[in-house]
Amino acid sequence: MSPKESLEPYRSKRDFEKTPEPAGGEDKELQHPIYVIQKHDASHLHYDLRLEMGGVLKSWAIPKGPSLDPKVKRLAMPTDDHPIDYASFEGTIPEGQYGGGTVMVWDIGTYRNLREEKPEGHRLTMEQAYDQGKLEVWLEGKKLKGAYALVRTGFEKRGWLFFKMKEAREGAYEDIEKAEPDSALTGRSLDEIAKEG
Ligand code: MN
Repeated sequence: MSPKESLEPYRSKRDFEKTPEPAGGEDKELQHPIYVIQKHDASHLHYDLRLEMGGVLKSWAIPKGPSLDPKVKRLAMPTDDHPIDYASFEGTIPEGQYGGGTVMVWDIGTYRNLREEKPEGHRLTMEQAYDQGKLEVWLEGKKLKGAYALVRTGFEKRGWLFFKMKEAREGAYEDIEKAEPDSALTGRSLDEIAKEG
């Protein structure tokens, strides 16, 4: 599917005259693929994980947000592909519009596909790994840094799990979404974004 076709569900749900969200412009290829987590104060507060793949942002809604503890696996429900320029979108979607509520860029950076760094013969592109239902990425964000996995499960037939891959470090893990609640882009809180737009 071309990025243009794959963005159809995203575009069809929105009136770009009314929402400040981007419609998605020309496709651009960046050297390092984008990683972003947006905090979205919609009917239920949740986090939207997006990874640049094939000219769009592949997206998952994570109700509880990420965890730094490898033992904690968070449900990640796939959502519509979003345009690349959505990665820096911060603002308020008007009530009554799709996803109405305030959006914050909670974390932003780039990622590496760890499955492409395996020994010869075991390497997978992001698209191949996605089809297989097992992504392994090194996130280079402002808040999240390290190896994270996204694994498709049977939950509600389409749910995935998002979790930090095991590392040497043991012990207590802070609740990162509570310790660092504000925007990685502007330092603003959800309330400040809601007031300022
Ligand atoms: Mn959302």
